Amino acid sequence: MFRNAPHDAGKTVALTFDADMTADQGGRAAAGEHFDNPGLIAALRTLKVPATVFMTGRWAEEYPDQARSIGRDPLFEVANHSYSHYAFTGDCYGLPTVPEDRMRADVERAYTAFRKAGVPNAMPYFRFPGGCYDRRALRAVSGTGVTAVQWDVVSGDAFATDADAVAQQVLQGVKPGSVVVMHCTRSAAPTTEQVVRTVVPELRRQGYRFAKVSELIGTTSTRR
Ligand SMILES: [Zn+2]
Repeated sequence: MFRNAPHDAGKTVALTFDADMTADQGGRAAAGEHFDNPGLIAALRTLKVPATVFMTGRWAEEYPDQARSIGRDPLFEVANHSYSHYAFTGDCYGLPTVPEDRMRADVERAYTAFRKAGVPNAMPYFRFPGGCYDRRALRAVSGTGVTAVQWDVVSGDAFATDADAVAQQVLQGVKPGSVVVMHCTRSAAPTTEQVVRTVVPELRRQGYRFAKVSELIGTTSTRR
């Protein structure tokens, strides 16, 4: 389990974006709901902010061109947020639940969806849907060889309507080595692009550098 780099390891911060889409939301996407956020990805490119996208397999199926474009851009890395975005524990924000004997397959099915979309090198990092896990879930996914990745800063962008409030929460929470959780899903997190346009210049002004999760994990593994 990885949450953040040591807070004394230098002024580096990882912005992470969960590309949520639940396996049963295909009908809503067909009806015009936007689970993607091209404006956010464009903003990250314009601002040259490296980022880790925790993508669900279902999202990659719905938006294969965007998944491939993110996956082939060295600015980004794609990591695993399950195929279905169903919960790996009971009682997790009302999400449907993956049975224990299907957990491993759900993780692997996401990698299959990434490959099919043309994402070349998805990372062996896994974020539990809703961030909900227990010992049983950790044991089930560890068989796939992934490292579970949580966060130490909740942006609060999910269902937020006030971009300034979310930006303030991020700026107050970030410490050296932090991992910030945000979302790459317009319908459920409509302010995220604006939040990024606010917090990135401010954090840089404070001396922070942006990194992908893989870089922070590297920092941790080499610390004395
Ligand atoms: Zn999620």
